[in-house]
Amino acid sequence: MKTICIMLKSPHKKIYDRQYRVKLRSTVLIAYGNKCTCCGEDCQGVLQMDHVDGGGRTHVSSLGGSKGFYKWLCKENFPPAYKILCANCNLGKFRNRGQCPHQGVNPFNGNEGHRRYRVKLRDAVFNLLGAACSMCSESNVLFLTIDHINGRGNVERKSIKDNDQIYIKIRDDESYREGFQLMCMNCNVLKYRQELSSEKTL
Ligand SMILES: [Zn+2]
Ligand SMILES: [Zn+2]
Ligand SMILES: [Zn+2]
Repeated sequence: MKTICIMLKSPHKKIYDRQYRVKLRSTVLIAYGNKCTCCGEDCQGVLQMDHVDGGGRTHVSSLGGSKGFYKWLCKENFPPAYKILCANCNLGKFRNRGQCPHQGVNPFNGNEGHRRYRVKLRDAVFNLLGAACSMCSESNVLFLTIDHINGRGNVERKSIKDNDQIYIKIRDDESYREGFQLMCMNCNVLKYRQELSSEKTL
């Protein structure tokens, strides 16, 4: 059934859908100030809606994904429980447990042994990869991610289930490491968007 639905969609409808999505997203972002409420970043491509008290993801999926979520925000007249964060501040808030590191770094609590191990491992790998975003030089580790230079990061991640394993392999295997670079989440999101749009024009 799904296949038939896709086949019935004309290319024209696809373009219309995309334009509608872009316009809807842009309307929401403008209503919320069109820039990151933490660091002021205003490149629309990296801006994301964040639920002030967390738990946004479940709500978004209950509305059928981002399109349904943006529609809902419009219908509800842009509730103040949401604000804009850039991808960096959003990731930083997640890693720093509820607060972007721009607002102060949260210390570890007592029962985070494995987390400590992972952070140590991550820092070792990040140092080997140059300790800064290869595009914009952002060097706060809480904003950095490892990026597979030729794309395919998701495929790789699916075949190696555990993130720790990828880190260990990058740390210990120099030739494997050459395939990776560091990127902050903002640059990563932009790269991913570019890859998506170039795939669409093929
Ligand atoms: Zn930001
Ligand atoms: Zn921030
Ligand atoms: Zn960057």
